Amino acid sequence: MSIDSRVFPDEQLPEGSVVDGETVTSPIDETFDFVVIGSGAAGGTAAWTLVQAGYSVAIVEEGPWVKTREFDRRIFPSFKRMFREAGTQALMGNSIIPLLQGRVVGGSTLVNSAIVWRTPDDVLDDWSKNWGLGGAITERDLDPHFAAIEEELKVHAVLDEALGENNRLFVDNSFKGGFVGTRMRRYENACKGAGQCLTGCPNAAKQGMNVSYVPWSLRKGARIFTSVRVDRVAIKNGRAVGVVGSTTATNPKHAKKIPVVVHARRGVFLAASTIQTPNVLRRSGIKNPHLGEHFMAHPGLGLPGIFGQKVDMHFGATQGAETIDFRKSERFKLETISMQPELAAVRIPGVGRELVSRLTTLPHAAIWVAQIRATAQGSIRPGFGGRDMVRYSMAKEDVAAARKAAALIARLFFESGAKEVWPGIHGLPEIIRSMDEVKLIENAPLDSRHYSFIASHLFGAARMAASERDGVVGLDFSTHAAKGLYVVDSSIFPTNLGVNPQHSIMGLARLAATRVAADPLAIAAA
Ligand SMILES: Cc1cc2nc3c(=O)[nH]c(=O)nc-3n(C[C@H](O)[C@H](O)[C@H](O)COP(=O)(O)OP(=O)(O)OC[C@H]3O[C@@H](n4cnc5c(N)ncnc54)[C@H](O)[C@@H]3O)c2cc1C
Ligand code: SF4
Repeated sequence: MSIDSRVFPDEQLPEGSVVDGETVTSPIDETFDFVVIGSGAAGGTAAWTLVQAGYSVAIVEEGPWVKTREFDRRIFPSFKRMFREAGTQALMGNSIIPLLQGRVVGGSTLVNSAIVWRTPDDVLDDWSKNWGLGGAITERDLDPHFAAIEEELKVHAVLDEALGENNRLFVDNSFKGGFVGTRMRRYENACKGAGQCLTGCPNAAKQGMNVSYVPWSLRKGARIFTSVRVDRVAIKNGRAVGVVGSTTATNPKHAKKIPVVVHARRGVFLAASTIQTPNVLRRSGIKNPHLGEHFMAHPGLGLPGIFGQKVDMHFGATQGAETIDFRKSERFKLETISMQPELAAVRIPGVGRELVSRLTTLPHAAIWVAQIRATAQGSIRPGFGGRDMVRYSMAKEDVAAARKAAALIARLFFESGAKEVWPGIHGLPEIIRSMDEVKLIENAPLDSRHYSFIASHLFGAARMAASERDGVVGLDFSTHAAKGLYVVDSSIFPTNLGVNPQHSIMGLARLAATRVAADPLAIAAA
């Protein structure tokens, strides 16, 4: 079947199920059982769970719905349309760390690499014993939810036909670095190894929320309001009763913002992500000393290695190989990543003619990255113009972990036959060509300004705790301050994980929505 004649899951949706804020001309005032704020990993999962339990559900999403057929592999137009602030957000502290988030139907799941990891047991034990969660969220509670999501979203290890050379080199050579590299497990159905996960999967193979739980929910009766930003949750007599917001009006033909009110008979699920959720809570009048505090991340950094033979990153699962062997001992996880040429090019050393001549080496480049389970904590506050201001400074021990990971990656590149490694660490040569020179990375300064970090795994800032004294959200997922206001994204996580967060977020959102849906009498009486 040619791609033009295929019907993608985000097409042919039930009439009236999508209300596009870009085109509405009069105020919206509607009522549902539940309102879900955000259509990403947490919101999509919560909505699908509530719809299946028979409730009427409205999803309110600030971003537009960019359909599979409209995806554009060019970075700039895609970032402008689908990333929050066109991908220019940053964590501000002792260095500036770019922060990436999707702002589109599907949230960050539309732009991410679909890597799946269940919440590690040691994290759940820690939450239970040291963060006061007790028996509220156990492995036994979560396992059936993880299993159900894995089945629905076709989770499996990368297949041969989508592996590509970047991922193969990592897996096949990992033993030379003294560890076990494996193929990633991902949410995908017939990945063709197009290496474009960052700008949206053109084959609808990646099972982001935009092609799975959101359209499935609409087909079962839910409605989505797109390009509508929730300003605040309405709270009456200590209970969440709906949301108040407006259309985002980026279309010059409809430049006026239109007010939107969506009433919730039974409750509001807040799933706007770790960065936006704390400020939505603030604007809704929620007060708590922990609100906006204890923000955590897994800052990542990547190194290109240049091989004699072609690697051709444009073919292969965008991220397809990894190891967690260093997660506990060194606090980092290693992964492969493929980048479109415009992005990979920012790491090319040199300027002018030198830079242009090196562009020809890109087909020979592989990129391997480290995600650091950082100890640092930051804060989230309202910024200018409705933006979110994130303050975050890397701790010295986190930079030390990153430096160790960078040296390990460089060594593995040379063991695997690479001719050059581009460390991207300020003060070091732009190119190193031998194992001996890896010592330069091992001795690089422990100053985060010297490294090129990027953040996309985000946690905390509205953490869960049994008592209001210790956290913002209770063990029933509802805020302590207002009942029926359920927070289900990773802002409630007491710590970061050391593995990719999407599956933990979805597992917890499904658990929360299942518990709330199963106890409607308690909801009505509360
Ligand atoms: C480039 C990239 C690659 C990644 N790769 C992986 C990976 O492979 N595996 C993995 O596990 N994790 C990955 N992650 C992280 C993962 O995608 C996120 O942790 C996860 O999607 C977060 O889920 P969420 O629902 O909290 O937020 P999101 O998925 O970001 O969704 C939040 C949604 O809420 C909307 N919203 C925010 N505020 C409002 C408001 N006021 N009103 C209405 N709507 C609002 C946003 O527009 C957004 O669409 C990656 C992230 C990025 C950016
Ligand atoms: S690698 Fe390509 S085909 Fe596979 S999920 Fe990503 S964008 Fe889709």
